[in-house]
Amino acid sequence: MENKVLIFGHQNPDTDSITSSIVMENLEKKLGNENVKAVRLGNVNKETKFVLNFLGMEEPELIENIEDGQEVILVDHNENTQSISNLSNAKILKVIDHHTMNFVAPYQLYYRAEPVGCTQTVLYKMYKENDVEIDKNIATLMLSAIASDTLVLKSPTTTDEDRKVVKKLEEISGLDINVFGVDMLKAGTDISDYTPEQVINIDSKLFEQANKKFRIAQVNTADLDSIFKKQAYFEQAINDDIEKENLDFYVFAATDIINSNSKIISLGNDAPVVEKAFGVSIDNNTAMLENIVSRKKQMLPPILDSLK
Ligand code: MG
Ligand code: MG
Ligand code: MG
Repeated sequence: MENKVLIFGHQNPDTDSITSSIVMENLEKKLGNENVKAVRLGNVNKETKFVLNFLGMEEPELIENIEDGQEVILVDHNENTQSISNLSNAKILKVIDHHTMNFVAPYQLYYRAEPVGCTQTVLYKMYKENDVEIDKNIATLMLSAIASDTLVLKSPTTTDEDRKVVKKLEEISGLDINVFGVDMLKAGTDISDYTPEQVINIDSKLFEQANKKFRIAQVNTADLDSIFKKQAYFEQAINDDIEKENLDFYVFAATDIINSNSKIISLGNDAPVVEKAFGVSIDNNTAMLENIVSRKKQMLPPILDSLK
């Protein structure tokens, strides 16, 4: 067994998952817990690569499974379906998150989830509470993740706490979120060398709720048309996944980061659920969701409501 405590975010890691594990490792070490290591459960996407390259930082090591009893700290997620496959056999020491709670453990642990836009906003507060200094690199990692999760503070998931923390992080890092954050988001929209299967897996989350098994995948874009030119290829990849994982439905959302809308492809036996959820009609398996950008706050809740 790895004798270090492993710190990781969700599968198909986004910028928050990768940077929060690095930042949490730093915080634990600053507090005297040397025996910790940030790792990741999947490929680093282009948006996150942009940040790590900017800082000259290495990607955390990839892990595919853990031994029973392995001690872990979860960041940016709390549910089994989004974590390492044998999470239920791990010993979870801490959870630092900002998602709906879907978590049970038959033992005591440190569980901290706040209704803010990004895990890094919670971590920022933990540095402050513990009087640990936030250096320029850590501030840049935090700022990047908040820019990513809140689409540069434009998503309705953004809270006043996120905005306040961003001001402080801009001072420490010397970066402007509207410049650095936008460059970072744009770097993440380059899917030119990805296969359709890779694109749908950049940011895909599996949900098992309301007696249904489904995925909501999301990809950021500055050009919806270029994505929907390849609709047939994406549908093929999505249908393969539906069959392989026995999904009831699959929603693939291409989110326009410039205009703050999402256009979806909805497939599977229960695909019409999105019509009720969003008050739209599906045409050629697609629908336009005006002013909807957040999976957590604007896509998942209405879908769960309409499954009731
Ligand atoms: Mg995340
Ligand atoms: Mg997050
Ligand atoms: Mg996200």
